[in-house]
Amino acid sequence: MNSRTQGSLGATVPDVNELARPGRPRSAVEALPAYRPGRDAKQAQQDHGVVDAVKLASNENPEAPISAIENAVLHAVRGANRYADHRGAELRSHIASWLGVNAEQVTIGNGSVGLLQQIFLTYLDADDEIIFGWRSFEVYPIFSQLTGAEMVRVPLLDDLTYDVDGIISAISPATKVIMLATPNNPTGTLLEADDIVRIATAAGDGVIVVIDEAYREFVDADTPDPVAEVVPRFRNVLVTRTLSKAHGLAGLRVGYAVGDAEVIADIDKVAVPFHVNAAAQAAAIAAIDNIDEIEARCAVIVRERGRVESQLASLGWWMPHHQANFVYLSTGVNTMHYATELEKRGVVVRPFDGEGIRVTIGSAVENDRFLAAITELGVLK
Ligand SMILES: *Cc1c(COP(=O)(O)O)cnc(C)c1O
Repeated sequence: MNSRTQGSLGATVPDVNELARPGRPRSAVEALPAYRPGRDAKQAQQDHGVVDAVKLASNENPEAPISAIENAVLHAVRGANRYADHRGAELRSHIASWLGVNAEQVTIGNGSVGLLQQIFLTYLDADDEIIFGWRSFEVYPIFSQLTGAEMVRVPLLDDLTYDVDGIISAISPATKVIMLATPNNPTGTLLEADDIVRIATAAGDGVIVVIDEAYREFVDADTPDPVAEVVPRFRNVLVTRTLSKAHGLAGLRVGYAVGDAEVIADIDKVAVPFHVNAAAQAAAIAAIDNIDEIEARCAVIVRERGRVESQLASLGWWMPHHQANFVYLSTGVNTMHYATELEKRGVVVRPFDGEGIRVTIGSAVENDRFLAAITELGVLK
């Protein structure tokens, strides 16, 4: 334990005038790029002189929250002079009984990204290794770098799915965490349940395997549920989910994790006190109580995804087997061209320079805007 009550700190502080700026960030932080949020519709409008741009860049839900959520939030706000329930006990037990697990197996977070940060802080030191497929969710490398852990990125296969054998053979004695986004962001591809089991088995109890299911609600109906099928068999597997996408609560920040009770207790230790605010907790309870309404909306998005895919296919685009609320086009060297030209037509998408563009499935009107623009641009090879 490093701690000191007094000492000769004065001698080690450099002359303030010699510093490029005040403070001395940790080297891990210094090395991080500044956070660059996705472009929004307003920016596109200003840059390109368009008036009614649509944002299909952040996998948000096109619809405002259902009215039961709105009412729950209004009610919660009336008690906002009080601290929220720190442990979110009511929400945890709500999630637990909904999923058929014990309340001790569930924790909540400030979005599921908040939980990922807790997981990384819990398990990763500078000499440790973390494995994930690449390309995947951009938060993984950022949080990895913050801990100083070594990142082992296993490239996706040609069909944009994970290289499961590659991931397994990357496991070393230094491996502490394996991140598996399924469906993956930005490709939308699914990791089969058998492959999750293979990876969890190969990893063993000393390695936490995180199944990041931010898009669970959009997968094919017959997809096995890892909470029911994998978590009971593997104490090292943790499933994270969010209410940001399917439930339309991105702006309120609430996610949850399900796993072994002791793992949950460990990641709870590093939570910021009161990290899930009262309105978010109330919104999440209302969402679960009205899950049918939310599932019906997800079904609409999945139908729209099918419509967008078939139109893209008829234009000649190859696509992976999408299972989330977005599509991915491998635009390669033409990626920034497509992103800019789509923006000029009022459609903001998420480009990954040199690789592809990710386009969120929005409302039918928004999707039509995208389809009209991409049709105009054609398929460049
Ligand atoms: C959107 C997303 C999340 C979660 O976002 P929160 O809003 O923090 O819950 C987590 N993982 C992946 C892969 C995502 O795309």
